[in-house]
Amino acid sequence: MQGSFRAGRVFGIDVEINVSWLLVFALFSFTLAQHYYPMFAPEFSPTVYWSMGIISTILIFVSILLHELGHSLVAIREGISIKKITLFIFGGVAHMEEEPKSPAGELKIALFGPGVSIVLGFIFLAFYYLTTPEIALNHVLRFLAQVNFVVGIINLIPAFPLDGGRVLRAGLWHIMKSMIRATRAAAFVGSVFAFLAIGIGFVMIFQTSWWGLWYIFLGWMLYQAGQSSYVQLVFHQALKGVPVSQIMSTEVQTVSPNVTLDRLVEKFYKYRFGAFPVADNGRLRGLVDFNQVRGVPSEEWPNTPVSRIMIPEEKLVKVAPNTEAVEAMMKMAAGNVGRILVVEGGELMGILSRTDMMKLIRMHMLLEKRK
Ligand SMILES: [Zn+2]
Repeated sequence: MQGSFRAGRVFGIDVEINVSWLLVFALFSFTLAQHYYPMFAPEFSPTVYWSMGIISTILIFVSILLHELGHSLVAIREGISIKKITLFIFGGVAHMEEEPKSPAGELKIALFGPGVSIVLGFIFLAFYYLTTPEIALNHVLRFLAQVNFVVGIINLIPAFPLDGGRVLRAGLWHIMKSMIRATRAAAFVGSVFAFLAIGIGFVMIFQTSWWGLWYIFLGWMLYQAGQSSYVQLVFHQALKGVPVSQIMSTEVQTVSPNVTLDRLVEKFYKYRFGAFPVADNGRLRGLVDFNQVRGVPSEEWPNTPVSRIMIPEEKLVKVAPNTEAVEAMMKMAAGNVGRILVVEGGELMGILSRTDMMKLIRMHMLLEKRK
């Protein structure tokens, strides 16, 4: 996640904190110290209130980390490696390298996080009952018990990609026997919840409660998260195990480095591609883009060879033919390019465009729908 730094390592999993969390830290500590605790636990000094605020916020952080570790440790037992856990403004995310292999696995992974939160809620509640209201800690314990119960319960709302939505997906997956269709259905239910939250937000604003904005914001975030996790899954499913060589175009129109720009422009008119790889006897030298030609005045075209304006070979985004298509797609996204050149031993083997991948994904989805 952008703007995150590594904070430590637990059970072999990197824990990183997003900068947005620091904002939450300040906001929570302040609100608790200045408003919440003075209201619910009067007659302590400001220093004590601030300590209560800061300790509570740290313990919220630990609680959310334990929730994510709950998911992560079960996922690892299910054979899914966890790259890292990120804590950010809305809580945490455990980054799973792949999707669960079975509905039962998904169910266990999804339930364990809220399970940890609810158990933590009971632990804090037990310690709360063991202490008396004269000591400041008593109020902190009660607050943390509430927070953990709320975290556990909210996450169980069946709105994918919340944990409850994953539980729903596991159930649908078991019934439908297709993970993609189950995800689509779960994402749909999730979007209903998201729009419900947005609707409630608007009603609240009409009743002049500005908390409504918060509902609208959370609803929108939930909707976006649901859609993007569905799209991501479809991509991964469609491209899983497919090597680049299987979907690349092999009939590539290339230009020689010595061709002048006036001839190149004719080629652009003829083929209407956005760019041509530059090759010399099959060896890749670079890539020339339509926009680069536009940067040269037309009177200079007859005297300018392609080699002078092309992007040189070493600066291009390239993959080997046996690279997985998923990896090629990620490389394209990272380099912000619409096509990637397939090269083996310096020789141009083919070209893979985003359009090729979209066609493959579309075909995959149409076939999946029939099942
Ligand atoms: Zn969770």
